[in-house]
Amino acid sequence: MAAEAHRPVASQDELFKLIEGRRDELVELTRELIRFPTINPPGEAYQPCAEYIGRRLKARGFQVAYVHAVGTPGDEVRYPRINVIARREGVAPGPTVHFNGHIDVVQAGGGWTMDPFAGIVKDGKVYGRGACDMKGGLAASIIAVEALIDSHPKMPGALEISGTVDEESGGFGGVHYLAQRGWFSAPRVDHVIIPEPLNVDRVCIGHRGVWWAQIETRGRIAHGSMPFLGDCAIRHMHAFIERLERDLYPRLATRSTEMPVVPSGARHSTLNINSLHGGQAETSGYPTPCVADSCRMVIDRRLLIEEDMEDVKDEVRQLLEQLSRERDGFRYSIRDIFEVRPSMTDRDGPVARSTAAAIREVLGRDAEFVCSPGTYDQKHIDRIGKLRDCIAYGPGILDLAHQPDEYAGIDDMVNSAKVMALAAAALVHGAA
Ligand SMILES: [Zn+2]
Repeated sequence: MAAEAHRPVASQDELFKLIEGRRDELVELTRELIRFPTINPPGEAYQPCAEYIGRRLKARGFQVAYVHAVGTPGDEVRYPRINVIARREGVAPGPTVHFNGHIDVVQAGGGWTMDPFAGIVKDGKVYGRGACDMKGGLAASIIAVEALIDSHPKMPGALEISGTVDEESGGFGGVHYLAQRGWFSAPRVDHVIIPEPLNVDRVCIGHRGVWWAQIETRGRIAHGSMPFLGDCAIRHMHAFIERLERDLYPRLATRSTEMPVVPSGARHSTLNINSLHGGQAETSGYPTPCVADSCRMVIDRRLLIEEDMEDVKDEVRQLLEQLSRERDGFRYSIRDIFEVRPSMTDRDGPVARSTAAAIREVLGRDAEFVCSPGTYDQKHIDRIGKLRDCIAYGPGILDLAHQPDEYAGIDDMVNSAKVMALAAAALVHGAA
């Protein structure tokens, strides 16, 4: 299958040489992208970064569109949600391959030993916030597509590259918005590769789902010296945590999935307590002597493809209901904050198979198929765009994402560009 899938490129060697010859250009492009401090929140520097990508691709014959996601969370005059989508038609009709990279990055945070927005190159690596997640991947996809076009002028189909915003905050002003408007659906697009940092030899076919909810227990305020006159909401919450420990956590640990999630600890259902706030806030460092009348908890439940969202919610609600029946004064409310269903494409589908074949060709070893423990923009492409043939594949090292001194290895970027170019060549020729 591998040999057949690769035949479309006039000369694979020529393509690889072209990409190797653009190694410095790839590094420079990554550095330029890192220098836009596209921090989300609030959504800094989106427009200049999108326009930088758009200008580059327009000069190379792409039709470029800017889509402003008006009215989406965080969109305001100072922080407009601007996405860029570039498309280049081939010489004959055929499938469209789309590379989607998010341009936003998380806050730099502490612990850096260098300027996170300088794009410093050292020891074969490009450092900076977003180098790994995922400007190195986005740059590699741009170089891949440009080299493919240059080495293969008679190519059919179409190639698209997008730089989208807000992935780190749910994608509402980015891929979610675009998917709702047909940018990620057939017949416009057939195959999508998202160069998220999943390691250079891994094909990521999907991700677990997520449910965030806030649970509040309520009590009755009283003087802290006479707690028997009140009813402590924190003690009620403690009773709930005990139920989680006793009933829910053991159950979740026994549930496992056939999704190849990495790391393997995430092949079970998980629940994290993201935060807990109870009682009166301290004023100027002094606590108030009151019985807590409210305690709030935010939970982060991650779902497997085998789990149903309603069942997952019911399981938590039932614990709360049991406590209402069994514990004096237990009153609670629960509110959904955010939910995403799990998404997983077929590992035998065109995009997964072509990418795996290209990894074998470039790296000389078999690709590993994985799923991500957390979600990324694939959910919107799958659920809203109804486009199933989507994977994540990119050069960054997963564990470095969001860390201080985040980097992308230059060899990995070059290799991933070859993989992306080869996979795209097979796909535009109708590899299935
Ligand atoms: Zn990312």
